[in-house]
Amino acid sequence: MKNYISDYKKFDKENAYYGNDLGVTVDGEITRFKVWAPLCTAAYLNLYTGGDGDNKVETVCMRKIESGVWYVELFRDVYGMYYTYTLEYEYNETHEVVDLYAKACGVNGNRGYIANLAALNPEGWEDSARVVCKSPVDAIIYECHVRDFSISGTSGVHWSKMGRFEGFVEPNSRYEGVATGIDHLKELGITHVQLMPVADYATVDEKKNGSGQYNWGYDPKNYMCLEGSYSSNPEDGDVRIREFKTLVMELHKAGIGVILDVVFNHTYYTTESNFHMTVPYYYHRIDEHGMFTNGSGCGNETASEHLMMRKYMIDTLKFWVTEYKIDGFRFDLMGLHDIETMNIIRDELDKIDPSILMYGEGWTGGESPYPNDKLSFKWNSYSFGRIGLFNDNIRDAIKGSTFNLHDTGFVSGNGHANSAIKRGITANARYKSLQGTADDLCWAFTPAQAINYCEAHDNHTLWDKLSISVSDRSEEDRRRMDKLAAAIVILSQGVPFIQLGQDFLRTKPKVFKTHETANETNIYDGNSWNAPDETNMIRWDEKKKNLDVFSYYKALIALRKSSPLFRMRTSEELDEHLFFHDNGDDVITYELYSKDECYLIALNPQNEKKTVNLPNGVFYCRLNDEGKPVYKNVYGNVTVPRISCAVFKRIKE
Ligand code: CA
Repeated sequence: MKNYISDYKKFDKENAYYGNDLGVTVDGEITRFKVWAPLCTAAYLNLYTGGDGDNKVETVCMRKIESGVWYVELFRDVYGMYYTYTLEYEYNETHEVVDLYAKACGVNGNRGYIANLAALNPEGWEDSARVVCKSPVDAIIYECHVRDFSISGTSGVHWSKMGRFEGFVEPNSRYEGVATGIDHLKELGITHVQLMPVADYATVDEKKNGSGQYNWGYDPKNYMCLEGSYSSNPEDGDVRIREFKTLVMELHKAGIGVILDVVFNHTYYTTESNFHMTVPYYYHRIDEHGMFTNGSGCGNETASEHLMMRKYMIDTLKFWVTEYKIDGFRFDLMGLHDIETMNIIRDELDKIDPSILMYGEGWTGGESPYPNDKLSFKWNSYSFGRIGLFNDNIRDAIKGSTFNLHDTGFVSGNGHANSAIKRGITANARYKSLQGTADDLCWAFTPAQAINYCEAHDNHTLWDKLSISVSDRSEEDRRRMDKLAAAIVILSQGVPFIQLGQDFLRTKPKVFKTHETANETNIYDGNSWNAPDETNMIRWDEKKKNLDVFSYYKALIALRKSSPLFRMRTSEELDEHLFFHDNGDDVITYELYSKDECYLIALNPQNEKKTVNLPNGVFYCRLNDEGKPVYKNVYGNVTVPRISCAVFKRIKE
């Protein structure tokens, strides 16, 4: 298809539509359809009785009204019908597309679906509300994949719900007495789950549900629709909506917020995408030769700076927030979105609820042609200070570079990581007593901007990374390293982020294809986006086996929640309440101090116990290397066991 757009600013000026009624609007007995397609020469609405198959009942001609919008109204209720648009272009080119504003769809997302969304609210929905989160630093985020969560036989979830929205919130699931599923989330004490993409994606065939297909979901197809393979019946447009609302409601009942992982940065299909087929060459970035650019590394990148793409992102996010009561968004490859768009989104979400979380990856997957000083890269962080960024500095300082499997970090004996860890403890935010020390790591506008982590779905799990990078060390040593890493992530200033199963030593064993052979380093899968369940699923028996590690994570979370000193809001608070002690380079010790409380936190990565000095007063050990308090008075010098964190709390001055 030819690109008719030579000047995007001019095109926007002449064609952008600002109304809030794109898609389907039901007004009593009247159903209105509006699609923005300024480049087509004719448009038709097709109605079907099914999400696929030969069941078209009607084709209705649409007429062009203002700003490139095509419109038709039907004087009847068409709830339960499926629909597409047929758009005609010059040269007899014709495309049948799914409405970009379809709020529901049929099997495999090939047709839109006209759902009565309000009628799909589960009982009690009106009482479901977003969780209270006054500052992002009060959040403790847990990244989960819907299928991984309950697809294993060890999940204790009823077989008919395994791997699905329903299984995610089945109550009272157990593995040999150990809590699994939603009960595990409650037990651990996290405040938010971040769901890997649950909007409709392309590569799992929903017609073959139950055949063991797998994908992380970063292959977006319909942005306002839910993925069908997580529902009990992908053929019925209503079912996934009702089941997902139930998931949100049950998590809210448990006091847990729901964050969606949104993948606006690229589309799975390029020329076949609904974006391109609706308005050719508009929604993606195009180079001077008319080619799609590839800043995502997935074949294309979207153009958030084009007004209707920006509007699309805003409208989509507002839809998830208002219809599904979503608590936050994680933006995949956020570095591809322009800063202006991200700040507008923040403002728009603030109008609904300022506690809605927003954070993302401050990098791209390839080179973007858009000016880099206008993109949401981490190094431009101050230009979007209220949007969080994944802290890859603390990640790599803790365990070693993600891109070199053999590299080690602070917990695995790399003494060069100390200053980067100190920066991480202060959320990589401005902090007076670290002036001049690793200042390139001082990027967070406030502590709330730093999303601290050492494990996420990308790359190896922490446990697998340790297994490879310090394979010469004993399992006991590596368990201690894992726990020390958790202490840094959870007790540091900023927003802690944990991957599902990290709290019980999640591993992703690689399943080898016929032409592949195993060696020492490839036995774990660091990029399991389409690997089978054997690699990705949570084995809940590992929770039982590693219950000591789980209990330690749980204790850290409880400690973080117990005092505002672990959750400071501003750099000024850091200056006033956080002090590093000088213990040479062997151990990092720091004090958190207010008029009410005083803590000393010691991080000892050495393979021998170390002595540290407490501040004045009498203390007790609030958290030992097993995550337990030891109610015994201590003062002066205390010892910290090898490879561990110790937290002391003052009893009296
Ligand atoms: Ca799908």
